[in-house]
Amino acid sequence: MRFHVLTLFPEMIRQGCSHGVVGQAVKDGKIRIETVNPRDFATDVHRSVDDRPFGGGDGMVLLPEPLAAATGKALSAAGGPARKIYLSARGRPFSDAMSRELATVDEVVLLCGRYGGVDQRLIEAEGYEEVSIGDYVLSGGELGALVVIDAVSRHRPGVLGNSASSFDESFAEVLLEHPQYTRPREWLGLEVPVVLLSGNHAKVRDWRRNAAVLLTAQARPELLSDAMSRGVLNGSGVRAALEALEALSDGERRAIGLRDPGLVRARLRPFSQALSGSRGSEP
Ligand code: SAM
Repeated sequence: MRFHVLTLFPEMIRQGCSHGVVGQAVKDGKIRIETVNPRDFATDVHRSVDDRPFGGGDGMVLLPEPLAAATGKALSAAGGPARKIYLSARGRPFSDAMSRELATVDEVVLLCGRYGGVDQRLIEAEGYEEVSIGDYVLSGGELGALVVIDAVSRHRPGVLGNSASSFDESFAEVLLEHPQYTRPREWLGLEVPVVLLSGNHAKVRDWRRNAAVLLTAQARPELLSDAMSRGVLNGSGVRAALEALEALSDGERRAIGLRDPGLVRARLRPFSQALSGSRGSEP
């Protein structure tokens, strides 16, 4: 898979892609990162890539011509069909589902805006999709491009050591992931939940599932209805999580990070009642 990043700051992308999982994937040739600097396609003596906005206002706007030429260079390097994404605060929210879908594509062009943004005609003429990494405004698209590259690369075959890893993480099945622990078994008076030491795989699976439901209810309650409607969670799964909640000792609650059991209970109860007969995978 190859990412073609159009950026005025190529060093940010090169640097950001040289560490950890992504850095290793680049070294192994599992993903490739190319950068194209629109400034190389500026035509005036000052190598200008921006100008004042029509209609007035703060901030300069990136000129369409250098960006079109840079897009052309990226597309000819791709040598075939490519997905074109403009990182933009106005875009469709980036998500786990989008990262999995993009991981099936071989060539992706990522356009990083700067200053006040990009002349909209360039976005329309080149057919860029607008994608946002969150409801806030960044100074440039480079951090967004790095987020996309990182999240997408994790779903490419062989990038993570264990090929199943990315299917076992938060959002893979809507819910957040269960908490994780390693040695020592007891730290600062907090003990690793005893079931995780039991070697009983079915019990460990149930415990993790219940903890995932409880933590999702605490941190991201809006995901619960999504999980219910997709059949990832059902009434009996919710009841099992509620029963597990009542059985937790104070120490286990602290070790799990369940800070407000009352709130978690209140958020889960409507799902156990209203949808107790619904279909869906059992926990
Ligand atoms: N005037 C623009 C607006 O209000 O939406 C913001 C421009 S911002 C200062 C400069 C560039 O940062 C944008 O062109 C875009 O590429 C990038 N950017 C800003 N916020 C972003 C976000 N939430 N997600 C992805 N890219 C973003």
